[in-house]
Amino acid sequence: MKPLGPIPAGFAALDGELVIGGCTASDLVAEAGRTPLFVYSRERIAARVAELRSALPRQVALNYAVKANPFGPVLQAMAGLVDGFDIASGGELAMVTAAGIDPGRVSFAGPGKRDDELEAAIAAGVTLNLESEGEAARALAIAARIGVQPKLAVRVNPDFDLKGSGMKMGGGAKPFGVDAERVPALVKQLLAAGADWRGFHIFAGSQALDASAIAETQAQTLALAARLAAEAGAMPPKVNLGGGFGIPYFPGDEPLDLAAVGEALGAQLEQLPAELADTAFCIELGRYLVGESGVYLTRVVDRKVSHGEVYIVTDGGLHHQLAASGNFGTVVRRNYPVAIASRFDAPVEEESSVVGCLCTPLDRLADKGGFPRAEVGDLVAVFCAGAYGASASPAMFLGQGPAAEILV
Ligand SMILES: *Cc1c(COP(=O)(O)O)cnc(C)c1O
Repeated sequence: MKPLGPIPAGFAALDGELVIGGCTASDLVAEAGRTPLFVYSRERIAARVAELRSALPRQVALNYAVKANPFGPVLQAMAGLVDGFDIASGGELAMVTAAGIDPGRVSFAGPGKRDDELEAAIAAGVTLNLESEGEAARALAIAARIGVQPKLAVRVNPDFDLKGSGMKMGGGAKPFGVDAERVPALVKQLLAAGADWRGFHIFAGSQALDASAIAETQAQTLALAARLAAEAGAMPPKVNLGGGFGIPYFPGDEPLDLAAVGEALGAQLEQLPAELADTAFCIELGRYLVGESGVYLTRVVDRKVSHGEVYIVTDGGLHHQLAASGNFGTVVRRNYPVAIASRFDAPVEEESSVVGCLCTPLDRLADKGGFPRAEVGDLVAVFCAGAYGASASPAMFLGQGPAAEILV
């Protein structure tokens, strides 16, 4: 048997079934009307935000990275919980606007922003995190044409990365941000052009579980921001320190020591260099805010045995759960936390593999895990499905289409 990832704390059974947000899995499926289904828990999201607020220094604002989960009701719930929103496309701008979020709270990063996206963002009063000098020139020209003073921050490609992170986004040659040594000149140019310069955006990586690595990156980030401010001769109104807080997905992963991250950041902010004395700070998190709040429910449509191995065949799959299938940036496939939701308190009875309904060997949700015996009609739960599930999987593959989503 291969181990399964750790189920996030706090999930319990009622009448043998997994409960999410006070409802049993079968009630949730009945309410949604179909499987596969993503269920997101409002209570779990709010609890996570509260943990962050109490662990982090009070002056650090909290932004939500929309790409982790742009489901409308999740955005609406977030509107009352976090300070700002980070988007990465014009499509996400439309989503946050549709959720009633004030564009003044929004910043827009991401390479390859089209002119129409820049114009919509500038016109709405969104802060652009500029990814290049070329993008800066286009933004200034568009702003001049429509007669708006643009809110422009510079995304810095730092000369370091977040150690141990699942996805590195800084250090060396990158499509993201402006190389640090060219940033002061760009800031001077933005100020000379009359832009509302908003400061720096420095994002060094994602999915880190090591508090000391995050603390080290935050210290490097503050030092870099101070150096760039000195060279530019201007105090940044705001510095986005990035994020990268990870969640445990795989066997052996330990949760991030949030208190240690908060204490280290607090100590660093106590001794800020003069260049950042009046600067406001924020961090941006996606996965950490919503990842563990979501569960993907899929129904067993077949149970079969091949060469002695049991396959639990579901109506879901990698078209909604690319990461759980091991095909989204993982080198070695390991099991996510997966359970039989309709037999949540039953003991392990057999070794089986949970697969999806796609005609490809890549479509595997759990490989040779220990499970209770599942029959046709049972519900399977994939945990840690609140981030990069629905939004980061190829829903159109094989004509399947998107899963249902609900927030409870
Ligand atoms: C993807 C991304 C995030 C969110 O990363 P998480 O791992 O979900 O917290 C934040 N900022 C930027 C710039 C990103 O590209």
